[in-house]
Amino acid sequence: MRERLPKDVYRSIKRTISEGAPLEPAIAGVVANAMKDWAIEKGATHYCHWFQPMTGVTAEKHDSFISPSPDGRTIMEFSGRELTQGEPDASSFPSGGLRATFEARGYTAWDCTSPVFVKENGDNITLYIPSAFCSYTSEALDKKTPLLRSMDAINKQAMRVIRALGNTTAQRVFTTLGPEQEYFLIDGAFVEKRLDLMMTGRTLFGAPSPKGQEMEDHYFGALHERVASFMNELNIELWKLGVSAKTQHNEVAPSQYELAPIFTTVNVATDHNQLTMDAMQKIALRHGMVCLLHEKPFAGVNGSGKHNNWSLVTDDGINILDPGNTPHENEQFLVFLCAVVRAVHKYSKILRASAASAGNDHRLGANEAPPAIISIFLGEQLSDIFEQLADGRAKSSKSGGVLKVGVSTLPSLPKDCTDRNRTSPFAFTGNKFEFRMVGSAQSTAGPNFVLNTIVAEILSDLADRLEKAKEVHIEAEKICQEIASEHKNIIFNGDNYSGEWVKEAEKRGLPNIRNAVDAIHTMLDKENKKVFEKHGVLSAGELHARHEILLERYVKEINIEALTTLQMAKRQIMPAVIEYTGIVANTVGAITAAGETAKSQSKLLHDLCKLTDALQINIITLEEALVEAEKKKTAEAYRDIVIPAMNEVRAVADKLETIVDAEIWPLPTYAEMLFTK
Ligand code: ADP
Ligand code: MG
Repeated sequence: MRERLPKDVYRSIKRTISEGAPLEPAIAGVVANAMKDWAIEKGATHYCHWFQPMTGVTAEKHDSFISPSPDGRTIMEFSGRELTQGEPDASSFPSGGLRATFEARGYTAWDCTSPVFVKENGDNITLYIPSAFCSYTSEALDKKTPLLRSMDAINKQAMRVIRALGNTTAQRVFTTLGPEQEYFLIDGAFVEKRLDLMMTGRTLFGAPSPKGQEMEDHYFGALHERVASFMNELNIELWKLGVSAKTQHNEVAPSQYELAPIFTTVNVATDHNQLTMDAMQKIALRHGMVCLLHEKPFAGVNGSGKHNNWSLVTDDGINILDPGNTPHENEQFLVFLCAVVRAVHKYSKILRASAASAGNDHRLGANEAPPAIISIFLGEQLSDIFEQLADGRAKSSKSGGVLKVGVSTLPSLPKDCTDRNRTSPFAFTGNKFEFRMVGSAQSTAGPNFVLNTIVAEILSDLADRLEKAKEVHIEAEKICQEIASEHKNIIFNGDNYSGEWVKEAEKRGLPNIRNAVDAIHTMLDKENKKVFEKHGVLSAGELHARHEILLERYVKEINIEALTTLQMAKRQIMPAVIEYTGIVANTVGAITAAGETAKSQSKLLHDLCKLTDALQINIITLEEALVEAEKKKTAEAYRDIVIPAMNEVRAVADKLETIVDAEIWPLPTYAEMLFTK
C-alpha cells in the first residue's frame, strides 16, 4: 500500500485499519485502482467480495474487471463503489427469518481491516476482498459482522480500564487469535467408496480397527512422506495468501494432523482459518487424499478440535495477558485476568453454546477432548496468586526455577511456572487463554465474538468502578479480591475427564450442558440477549435468527446422516449380508448333503440370520423415527428419536462387519482407512 498509494490516501486508510477511524469514501476509488493494478500484475482477471454467511463456510461471486469503453473497446476497470460494496442475493443464504425469499436484497461491505489477496483456482486468478454481509435492513447475515462489532466493544471497554489504571500510551486494544487446526487425511480411493464420508464428512458405520491409538505412536511421530509433501505444498499455498502457517505435526489419532499459524488480530485470523480449511481440502486432493474436518470422522479414536488461543494486545504491542516475571505486582494483568475469570464463570452457558454443533457433540463430554462443563485452568502460579488475592492482596509469585536433566552435556532448562493441563476446556497457557471446545469444522468467529462480548461486559462494569474511584489502585485491589473470592468455583486445575469432576462440578453449580440443542437454547436467556444488545454486537432479532439457524442446521445435518445411514444399510450392507448368508447357507446344504453335520457353518448362518433380522428391524425403526421427527420438526426430536435409532442401525451393522467375508463387505474398513498411507 505504501508503494502504490498517494501518501495522504495511505495515511487515511492506515488510520481506519489501525485506529478504527471511519473509512473516507473519497479514497475508495484510488485504493480500488491501485488494488486492480496490483492484482492484474499477478494475473488476476476477476475480483470478488468474499464473505462468511451463516453456513459456516465462505461465499464468493466473481466479476471480471472488464468494462466497455465509449469507443466500443474494452478496458480493465475497478471502481471505489465496486470495492466497497457488493450486492449478492441474500435470499438463498440462511437468515433465520431475517429475510423472506421475496425480499432478496443483501449487501457485502469491504472489511479493510483484513487484507485483500489474490488466489488461484485452477487457471482462474481472482482478487479476493474480505467483506461483511448484511441485509437490506442492515441486520448482520454473516459471521464477520458481529465479530467486528465485538472487537469494537472490547476495545472500548478495555481502553477505559487501562486508562483508569493509568496507562496513557495505548490508543487501542485488539484481540488476538491463533487457532490450532486439527484434521484427518484419508486416501481418496476410500472416500469414493464411502457415501457417509462424501455426504456427512464422518463414518456412519465401521467396526473398530484391531489397532487404534493405544500405542501412542502417532502423536508427534515422524511425518509420512506423502503427508509431509502435502504439508509442504499447503504451507507454500498459505504463505502465498499471507497466512503464517507455522507449526505442523501428527496428532493423537492415526491419520490425524494439526496446523497452527502465528497468531494475529482475531478477524484476520478468522479469515485465515477459513482459507486454511479451504486450502487443506483442495491440496489434499492434489495428493490423492481427502481432508476431513469433521469433529469426529471415526468412532473410537480422538476427534478434531480447534484450540482457540485468545489474548488482548495494545496497539503499542503489550500483551495484556502476559503476567511478566512477577504477576503479583502486575496490576493491569491481574485486573484483566479477573475480568476473564468472571466473564467465563458468569456467561459459561453462552460460551458453551458458541461451540455447539451436531458434529461437536461427539467430542464434548465424550471422554476425550474437553468435557461439556466449562471450568478454567490457571495453573500453579496463578492459582496461588488467585488465592492470595482472595485473602486480600497478592504478595509473591511462585517462580519456575531450573530443570536439570542430570546429563552434564545437556543444557539446564528454565522451567515454566506452571505445568500443562491438556484436559481443561479453558486454560491459561502462559500469556493467553486457550478455549479448547471449538469444533474443527467451525468458524472461529462465533466463539470469539462471544468471548469478546462477555469480557467487554465485565470490563465495562470494572471501568465504571475504577473511573469513579478516589483511590484507583485500592479499588483495583478490591475488585481483584472480590472476584477471586466470588469465582473460586470456576477454577479447576485437575483432570477434567474424571467422573469425580462431573460430580464435583455439579456441587459447585457449574452447568453441564451435554448436547448442542440444549446449549443453543441458552442463547435466548435473558442475560445473553441483554449483553449482546448492550454492546451492540447482536440485536435481539439477530440473536433469535442465529438461534433458529443453528437449530435448523442441526436438524438438517442429522437428517442427512439418517438418510445416508438408511441408503448404506439398505443398498450396500443388507445386499452384502444377504449374498454372504446365501453362500453360507449353500455351504451348509452341501455339507449336510454330504453327510456331515456342518456345526460351525450352521452357527455362523444362525448368527448371520439373527443379525440380519435385527438390522432389518432397526432400519424400519429409523425410517419411522424420521417420519416422526419430520412431523415434530424440532431439533429435540432429531436428537432424541433419530440419533438413537441411527446408532442402533450402526451397532448391528458393525457386528455384521466382523463376521462377513472381507471380500464381500462393501465398505473400506477402519483399519484400511486409518492406516493406509
Ligand atoms: P500448543 O499445541 O502447545 O498449545 P501451538 O504452538 O500448537 O501450541 O499453538 C499455540 C498457538 O497459540 C499458536 O497458533 C500461536 O500463534 C498462538 N498464540 C501464541 N501467543 C498468542 C497470543 N498472545 N494471542 C493469541 N494466540 C497466541
Ligand atoms: Mg498444538
